[in-house]
Amino acid sequence: MIAKNLQHIKSTLPKNVTLVAVSKTKPIADIQEAYNANQRIFGENKVQEMVEKYDALPKDIKWHMIGHLQRNKVKYMAHFVDLIHGVDSFKTLKEINKQAEKHNRIIKCLLQVRIAKEETKFGFTFEEITSILSSKEIIELKNIAIVGFMGMATFTDDKQQLITEFSSLNNFFKIQQSHHQKLSVLSMGMSGDYNVAIENGSTMIRVGSFIFGNRNYNI
Ligand SMILES: *Cc1c(COP(=O)(O)O)cnc(C)c1O
Repeated sequence: MIAKNLQHIKSTLPKNVTLVAVSKTKPIADIQEAYNANQRIFGENKVQEMVEKYDALPKDIKWHMIGHLQRNKVKYMAHFVDLIHGVDSFKTLKEINKQAEKHNRIIKCLLQVRIAKEETKFGFTFEEITSILSSKEIIELKNIAIVGFMGMATFTDDKQQLITEFSSLNNFFKIQQSHHQKLSVLSMGMSGDYNVAIENGSTMIRVGSFIFGNRNYNI
């Protein structure tokens, strides 16, 4: 089932779009099944769970942290995490830099941008990102690389609303790209909205339930 779902998604994916298989709450066996079907990028939203899976699974897997990040947990994944999607404070960037330095690594990060109407979604405003990217402090953080942005749309069936939110982030991304050459990743789109996200500029989708089935508890 997992292999078939993966194949289905990949067959419709434009070449420039990367698929992150979101395996949070799913057992090792499910991830191994996806791995056997050639999937190499997996997303988790809890550091502890990701570390356990990293330890148990093949080492050529690229692990993406997609959830809201607690600063005191960064140290547990700094030796292996490939990309951190949901960075939403400067303090967190500093902590990632500090932990990456200990392992002599440069950790790639995406800044989370608040695009949804819902109050609960984390993230920076466009103005905050503009000032962070051109700040002096950011240049001093040698062990992180800000490679793009991540956004989560409002949870809705209203396609027009999704288009508005995704395209606003895409427009912002394009403008920032013309100033900052390292920006190459626009992470937007999940099981319910990834087609709309891709139509509106996404280069990386984070898909969980569509591949692995529904999660028993939603976090
Ligand atoms: C869980 C999660 C996803 C995947 O959600 P699905 O609806 O299962 O595809 C994507 N992004 C983030 C940040 C998540 O927490």
